[in-house]
Amino acid sequence: MIIQRLSGPVMAVRDAKTSADLELINALSNPPLIPLGEDDVFVRRCRLAGDAVDTQFGCFRTHDLPKLLTLTHGAPALIGHNRQVTPVARFFGGGVEEFEGHRYIVPRFYWPKAHSGAEDFRVLLDAGIIAEASLAFIFDKPSCSICGRDIRECEHEPGAFYGLKICHYFYDGLDRVLEGSFVYRGAEPGTGILAEMTDLKRAIKDRKRITVRVGGRTYQAFAPLSGKDEG
Ligand SMILES: [Zn+2]
Repeated sequence: MIIQRLSGPVMAVRDAKTSADLELINALSNPPLIPLGEDDVFVRRCRLAGDAVDTQFGCFRTHDLPKLLTLTHGAPALIGHNRQVTPVARFFGGGVEEFEGHRYIVPRFYWPKAHSGAEDFRVLLDAGIIAEASLAFIFDKPSCSICGRDIRECEHEPGAFYGLKICHYFYDGLDRVLEGSFVYRGAEPGTGILAEMTDLKRAIKDRKRITVRVGGRTYQAFAPLSGKDEG
């Protein structure tokens, strides 16, 4: 179980809201308590993540993108991954779209016009001040593109050449989307899996794998070195 964050540009596309949008919003799990109408919300969309190798040398498998979009449906949208404050918007619907030869999930998101900060948020988005969105998700296994094993355990290094191939890894075992966040460009350099991987490789050396069940889900974990529990 690994938490990863990925950033990408927001496409603050001002599509006309459709009745289908409102139907999706009003049918979310934990839906609005008072059904929302077309005049109640702002709607934009953003390109969040795709099957191109990202700056952390990870990528989604193309056939996993519909699942990723489904997991994003209903997820909260925050500012700067700050979970201490109320989310500003919520993701819903959208599709998988092609961009520069790759495919990306492009969910839509809405926020209520009646909120006191709604117009400020709209202005920042539409003016391109808030220009990136970042997705926080949980996956199970970073699979090496060269050998298919867990890249934390094989000899290959992400970003290194093996013959003519650059090693990267796939986000396999997608489990959950925690949230999406609007961030300022370059707000999060060096976060994510690569920064952790060196430590992880060191930490898991010589450690036995164990299987942990949490809330009905099964996770692979590494046996603790000391008597202390972790997972
Ligand atoms: Zn490998």
